[in-house]
Amino acid sequence: MFPNIFIQNKTMKKQTLLTITAMIATLAVSCNNNQADEFRWQIDNFDDVKVLRYQVPGFEQLSLEEKELIYYLNQAAISGRDILFDQNFKYNLAIRRTLEAIYTTYKGDKECAEWKAFEKYLKKVWFANGIHHHYGNDKFTPEFSQEYFLGELIANTPAELLPVEGFGSAEQLLATITPAIFDAELYKSKLVQADGVDVLEASSMNYYEGVTQAEAEKFYAKMYKKNDPTPISYGLNSKLVKKDGKIYEQTYKIGGMYSDALEQIVYWLEKAAGVAKEPQKSTILTLVEYYKSGDLALFDKFNIAWVQDTESHIDFVNGFTEDYGDPLGRKGAWESIVNFKDTEATKRTQVISDNAQWFEDHSPINPAYRKAEVKGVSAKVITAATLAGDAYPSTPIGINLPNADWIRRDYGSKSVTIDNITAAYAESGKGSGFDEEFVLRAEDRERMAKYGRLSDNLHTDLHECLGHGSGQLAPNVKGGELKQYSSTLEEARADLFGLYYLGDPKMVEIGLVPSFDAAKAQYAKYIMNGMMTQFTRIELGKNVEESHMRNRKLIAEWCYDHGKAENVIEWVKKDGKSYVVVNDFERLRELFGEMLYEIQRIKSEGDFEAGRQIVEKYAVKIDPELHKEVLDRYAALNIQPYSGFINPIYTLVEEDGKVVDVKIEYPDNYVEQMLYYSQNYSFLPTLN
Ligand code: ZN
Repeated sequence: MFPNIFIQNKTMKKQTLLTITAMIATLAVSCNNNQADEFRWQIDNFDDVKVLRYQVPGFEQLSLEEKELIYYLNQAAISGRDILFDQNFKYNLAIRRTLEAIYTTYKGDKECAEWKAFEKYLKKVWFANGIHHHYGNDKFTPEFSQEYFLGELIANTPAELLPVEGFGSAEQLLATITPAIFDAELYKSKLVQADGVDVLEASSMNYYEGVTQAEAEKFYAKMYKKNDPTPISYGLNSKLVKKDGKIYEQTYKIGGMYSDALEQIVYWLEKAAGVAKEPQKSTILTLVEYYKSGDLALFDKFNIAWVQDTESHIDFVNGFTEDYGDPLGRKGAWESIVNFKDTEATKRTQVISDNAQWFEDHSPINPAYRKAEVKGVSAKVITAATLAGDAYPSTPIGINLPNADWIRRDYGSKSVTIDNITAAYAESGKGSGFDEEFVLRAEDRERMAKYGRLSDNLHTDLHECLGHGSGQLAPNVKGGELKQYSSTLEEARADLFGLYYLGDPKMVEIGLVPSFDAAKAQYAKYIMNGMMTQFTRIELGKNVEESHMRNRKLIAEWCYDHGKAENVIEWVKKDGKSYVVVNDFERLRELFGEMLYEIQRIKSEGDFEAGRQIVEKYAVKIDPELHKEVLDRYAALNIQPYSGFINPIYTLVEEDGKVVDVKIEYPDNYVEQMLYYSQNYSFLPTLN
C-alpha cells in the first residue's frame, strides 16, 4: 500500500528523512571519483526546493538491447506527465499551460521583482505537479499580484496561445484560474486528513467530484466482496463522480479518462515489449492490456508477473500506484520509474532477504500476528534511469511494490533501494552545516559521519523489504479499518521494524554492520528528526499532516514519553538553543520493540480508536515555540529542505534505419527540461 516513500512509499519518498540524512554521507558514486568531483549536482534552487541531477553509473556498460529497452520505457514514463497534474487538481493543466504561454512569449521587463516572483511560482508549479505543495499539500501563495498577472502578463500574451479548450473563451478560462491562483480561501489544500470533517469536501485533489465522503465510502463498501481471497483494488484507476444524482466511475483507460496520454504510454510499452525478453515481454503486454481495458484484474495479473520476475536486469514501475494523494487512500497517482539492477550493492539486500524468516520469527510482537511463512521478499539495489509522474522531480529513495495486500501475501513483494539517488543527495548535501547546528554531541556527529549512509540504507532496506511485509491480520479483520490513520500507522510499523532490527546483534552476526554504533548513529538522528528537525519542512502554525512525517514524530514522541522516567531521551538547552539527545540507546531499542508490539496489534485487530488516539496524541501537534526556533536556525543555514531531480536525456543513435546505440546526456537546466516536456510530452486536453 504504500510503496513509495520510504522509498517511495514506503520508501522515503518521499525523500524524507533521508534527505536530511543524506547530508552526512560519504561518497558513494560508483563511477570514478574525478568525474564525480566535477559533476555539478545542484542545478537550481527556489523557495524551499533545490533541484539536483543524478548520474546513471553503469548505463554505458549495458547491452544494446538493454539500452534500447530503457529508451522505450523512458519514453513511456515521460508520456504520462500530464496525468499527475490533472489528478492533483482539476485546473492544474489550465494553469500550467497559461503560465507557460506567458513565460515563453513575454517580452517585457524580466528584471523586476514581479517577473522574478512569477518565474519562481511557475518553477514551483512544475516541481509540485500543480499549484499545491508536493509535500505539505497547501496551495502556493503567489508573490506577484493579480493586477500584474492580468494587466501585464495576460494582456501581453497572444490570446490564441491560451488554453481555452473546454472553457469556451479566454474570459471563462481566466475567471476560473485567476481565483484558483490568487484567492487564498479557495482550494486551500490538496489533501486534508483531519478528523471530523468531510475529507473529500476539504481536499482539492481531483479523484472525486461532487461526492461526499460518506457516499464514496458507501459506493466502495458495496463493491467489497466478503471473504474474497483475491480482492480487486476497486477505485484505484478512476475518478468517482456524481452527476445528476448518479454516482459513477470515470475509468482511466484507453477510450476513457486520460486516454490521450495512455495511448502514448501504450505505444512505447509495445515498443519496449518488442525488445524485451520473456518473461518480461509478456509482463509488459499484460500492462498494455490493462491500460486498454481499465480492468483491474489485469493490473493484478501484471503485478503478479512483475513481482515474480526477479531476473530481468532492467525493471520498471509504470501505473496508477501510490494512494497517498487520496484522502480515502484508494486512488492511485500515476508514476513511472525505469531502472536497472546494481549487482554489487544488491548483495547487501540479499543478505537481509535471505534472513527474512528469522526476522519475522523474532519480531517483538504478539506471536499470533507473526507471519508463519514469509513469502518471496526480493530485495535489490537499483540504479534509476528515469523518474516520472509521482516520482518526479521529487522522488523516493526506495520502493516496495505491489501494494495489494493479497498479492504481497501470496506472491511476495519487490523491494528496492535507489542508490544513485541517495548518492546524489549525499553529494549535494556535503558541508551544509546542518549537523553542527542541530546535533549537540560530537560523538553523535562522528558516528553519523562514519555510519550515516550505511545505517540509512540499511534502515531503508529493513523498512522496505521486511517491515511492510511483516505481520498478519487477525482472522476476522479485513484491512482498511484504520481509515485516515492507516498510512501513518503503516509507516510507523515498517520504521519500527527497521529501527528495532538495526540494533539487533543479528545484524553484526550476518556481517551487515560492524557494531551497535551503526544503530546509535541512526537512532540519534531519527529521534532528532522526528522531534525537531523535520519541522523545518512545515510552515509555522501548521500541524504535521504528511503520513511519513507523522510517523516519525509519532515514534520519537512516544519513545520520549514512555522512556521519560528513565531519561532515555532528553531535551537539553545550551546557549539558548534546544537539542534532543539519546542517553540510553539500548533502552531506546527496547522501546522501539514495545511500540512495535502495540502498533502491530492496532493493525492486526483493526483498532481504529486506539490508532486515532495514538496518532492524535503524539504525531500531529507541534510546540509553536520550538517550531519557530527550528525554522530560524534552519533558515540561517540557507539550505532548502526539499530536493528533486531532473532526468538524463536518452537519444537513439540510428544507422541505416537501425538502432546502433543509445546515448545518455545529463542536461543542467531545470526550466529547459520542464518546457521540453511540456512541449513534447503533453498529450491531455486541458480539462479531463
Ligand atoms: Zn514505508
